Amino acid sequence: MRIARFTTGEDPMYGIVQEKDGQDMVYGITGDPLYTEIRPTGTIVSLEDVRLLAPVIPRSKVVCVGRNYAAHAAEFGEEVPEQALFFLKPNTAVVGPGDPVTIPEYSRELSLEAELAVVIKRMTRNVAPADVADSILGYTCANDLTARDTQREEQQWFRAKAFDTSCPIGPWVETDLDPSALAIGSSVDGERAQDGTTADMVRSVADLIAEISTVVTLLPGDVILTGTPAGVRTVEAGSSIDITIEGIGTLTNPVVRR
Ligand code: MG
Repeated sequence: MRIARFTTGEDPMYGIVQEKDGQDMVYGITGDPLYTEIRPTGTIVSLEDVRLLAPVIPRSKVVCVGRNYAAHAAEFGEEVPEQALFFLKPNTAVVGPGDPVTIPEYSRELSLEAELAVVIKRMTRNVAPADVADSILGYTCANDLTARDTQREEQQWFRAKAFDTSCPIGPWVETDLDPSALAIGSSVDGERAQDGTTADMVRSVADLIAEISTVVTLLPGDVILTGTPAGVRTVEAGSSIDITIEGIGTLTNPVVRR
């Protein structure tokens, strides 16, 4: 099931995206699927006629992991860390499909990073890897936008990775998906950048969430970014980024300078 958040000009609502007679339709549902049963409102709109929004606004946090693909760590001359390298993005970093992403004023080197994002559905603390599936609502595409020059200059990645618009997610949350071997890639203005597979993750989705849950309590709507494959590249204002993950779809965002 594909859970989207959308607007037709009115207040945002949730909907299920489904194909009908060869056309993608959005079936409106009541309330918030994180907290209420999925019940149709009777609203049915063509996907073409809605504006998709970030499928979830994290209630508290986006937890990310660095260097979770060996080939990406190697492209910066780094090793895969013995301890998982976690960092946070605030929920103000999150934007949706089609929203412009802004190069920070202090950076000359904005880079894309295609990542599989996991949406948490229940309060989770100290979960065992074998039980992680019960904590997951579904998966979406994310872009861990990074001011690479700032990242090189500073120990903490606050300015490099937590700025406004640094975490586009979407186009929807796919609830029925095995994340263990999905094609994941990115392109800029149609030109291929990354071309990887989630099978190359050093730490699996289950292991990451289990480990994160020993540090912080995960809340419904929190988002986990699982690292990026090799092939990251710089993007310029005026270009358009596509992040594509098999079984989910494509997240597209234009790049602007403030
Ligand atoms: Mg990343």
